Amino acid sequence: MSILKDTYGRHHSYLRISVTERCNLRCTYCMPAEGIQLSPKSHLMTADEIFKIAQAFVKQGVSKIRLTGGEPLVRKDIDAIITRLSSLPVTLSITTNAISTHRHIETFKKARIKQVNVSLDSLQTSRFTTLTRRNYLETVQNNINELITEGFEVKLNCVLIKGINDDEITSFIKLSKDKPLHIRFIEFMPFDGNKWNIDKMVSYKEIMNTVNTDFPKTDILRINDNPNDTAKNYQIKGYQGTFAVISSVTNPFCSTCNRIRLTANGKLKNCLFSSNETDLLTPLRQGDSILPYIEKAVVTKYKIRSGMESIEQFKDPDLHGKNRSMIAIGG
Ligand code: SAM
Ligand code: SF4
Repeated sequence: MSILKDTYGRHHSYLRISVTERCNLRCTYCMPAEGIQLSPKSHLMTADEIFKIAQAFVKQGVSKIRLTGGEPLVRKDIDAIITRLSSLPVTLSITTNAISTHRHIETFKKARIKQVNVSLDSLQTSRFTTLTRRNYLETVQNNINELITEGFEVKLNCVLIKGINDDEITSFIKLSKDKPLHIRFIEFMPFDGNKWNIDKMVSYKEIMNTVNTDFPKTDILRINDNPNDTAKNYQIKGYQGTFAVISSVTNPFCSTCNRIRLTANGKLKNCLFSSNETDLLTPLRQGDSILPYIEKAVVTKYKIRSGMESIEQFKDPDLHGKNRSMIAIGG
């Protein structure tokens, strides 16, 4: 039996690898204002260690790898990491804030990366700057357009926060009218230091209320979700692109979860919300097999959100506050 199958029969074929805890943005919902305690460089996986761990997962049945961070493209050896991983028989993809994608397009193409997920939470300059604490909106927009022109499938991730950017839902959807963009609204989730509370979150239901108000009902098409999809997918009739909602808080999709995460310092997280981590880097450096550690992490995975089954538990700061900040997990 595969060591990637958990006690609920879920096969973990999708590995997300964080390659750095650093970022060139400071998104308020991701990075605490005071920053985070960065791991010393010697505790971070080298390019070779990333490859070796990824290779072990692929031998066990992982078929999809996504690179994330922090901002993966701030890592100096990112092109070498991508190129090396592209030699594995996997679908490789990346999640980025798109500040510097223009410098890596050729590497993406050579690595046969087809899909690039880009984070963008506001289409307004001043608001983008407030949300990310940096002034890069124009660069990001230009780079998104370049990625589309170069033939990449671009998904835009937009975290909605009440009273901050929830009045932009319709503007985001309209971006998909003439462009093959896939807009994904993400419910704001709690992590250490991001001052989450349920009242700031814009729920799936609230998002769809706005859509139902702003578009004719007969134009809102519910389209197929892919297997293991975290998103509920929609399209406005006649639009080139699509939109979706990722409702991890109000409507978790744990029963079909196939994801497992590796942090930049080589710790395996069996769930985004898990505060338990399994160290793979130490045994790797000691020359031991990492397979028993992977197996242990997979079999101890909870059925739903690391044991936070109800929304009441999810609100408990003692539970989600023990987790890392998102920037150090890798979304
Ligand atoms: N820097 C890259 C980026 O921003 O796309 C990759 C890392 S980022 C941590 C990955 C994703 O996590 C982004 O789409 C971001 O919007 C999402 N994210 C971060 N904090 C979040 C939170 N509190 N709730 C929901 N999504 C969050
Ligand atoms: Fe950086 Fe991405 Fe986090 Fe924003 S969401 S601070 S871009 S890692």
